[in-house]
Amino acid sequence: MKSRIALIALTLCASAACAQTTVTKAPFGKTPDGAPVDAYTLKDKTLTVKIITWGAHIIEIDAPDRNGKDADVVLGYKSMDAPNAGYIADNGKTYMGSVVGRYGNRIAGGKFTIDGKAYQVNVNETKVGNTLHGGKVGFDRKNWTAKEIPDGVELTLVSPDGDMGFPGTLTAHVRYTLEGDKLKLAYTATTDKPTVINLTNHSYFNLAGSGTILDEVMQINADRYTPINAASIPLGDLPSVAGTPFDFRKPTPIGARIHDDNEQLKLAKGYDHNFVLNPPHTLTHAAVIVTDPASGRTLTVYTTEPGVQFYTGNFLDGTLTGRSGQPYVQYDGFCLETQHFPDSPNHPKFPSTTLRPGETYHTTTVFQFTAK
Ligand code: BGC
Repeated sequence: MKSRIALIALTLCASAACAQTTVTKAPFGKTPDGAPVDAYTLKDKTLTVKIITWGAHIIEIDAPDRNGKDADVVLGYKSMDAPNAGYIADNGKTYMGSVVGRYGNRIAGGKFTIDGKAYQVNVNETKVGNTLHGGKVGFDRKNWTAKEIPDGVELTLVSPDGDMGFPGTLTAHVRYTLEGDKLKLAYTATTDKPTVINLTNHSYFNLAGSGTILDEVMQINADRYTPINAASIPLGDLPSVAGTPFDFRKPTPIGARIHDDNEQLKLAKGYDHNFVLNPPHTLTHAAVIVTDPASGRTLTVYTTEPGVQFYTGNFLDGTLTGRSGQPYVQYDGFCLETQHFPDSPNHPKFPSTTLRPGETYHTTTVFQFTAK
């Protein structure tokens, strides 16, 4: 009888409806306007992931090393409002773990044209005149609404027509779910006017849990990348990575060539470039594999996106302090922002970022954590 019940339970649990992940909700402070911010903790046998409604940030990922010892493998702050150590104080300095939008990365001059109509969106990189990560008050600085779903949480944001200058009311959803050793981020969005969209997550990973990321070993499945000008806007060509410090087709320590005499590295003070991922862009082909040799922790990234911004935290300048009390400095974390290419609205040859009424924007990225 007992084994029959177990068998029935097993059969039921094979279906997607049987959640393996526990989801709990707790208060996490207040927005600058005094609205409540909630934290959702997703926990399964392998991982614990914390997400807050403010900016849909990932604030913590606990992942085991080869001996089963957990470390928090993303940078994050301890609260909303700690001075120089909270999500409010960040204020667009690092985009620490947030969902960036409407347009992740840069739009030159904040200008683009859709169907012959010119748009000027908010310019928040004032020195060089670009729009970065959606403008001054991007999706990282909005309090998303949240609801629990099987194995995770769904966050929703309605961005009104004209928000930061972007056309169309955009309704965006991000579903974070935990499936064994995989954290899945599924983004969808619709609009009521033609617009542009490029959503991504801006987590800073550090597979050792702290210290420099320069010894972590990176492999990116990209034959080409998009070099930039002095304002970090793609030049438009897609040169080969062969023979350059951008060739990560074989596993290579992040720091092995970061200080090379290379114009592109100098412009960005390290890696801050979009890599053109080799097809197929599916959830069964690894786009990026990173390993921390000391702990064995390995992050494998799968994505439906055609590009990834590999950013080595070049502008972390010690003014903001992380959860464990340490100031975050250059090369303390790396970002792998799966995305369409920067400034795509001004590069007709790049894959399109235009979203029209009646279409559904749909993109998925998986972060898998294993140990070897
Ligand atoms: C950009 C960097 C920028 C950083 C902000 C990255 O996605 O590519 O240039 O400094 O975000 O934290």
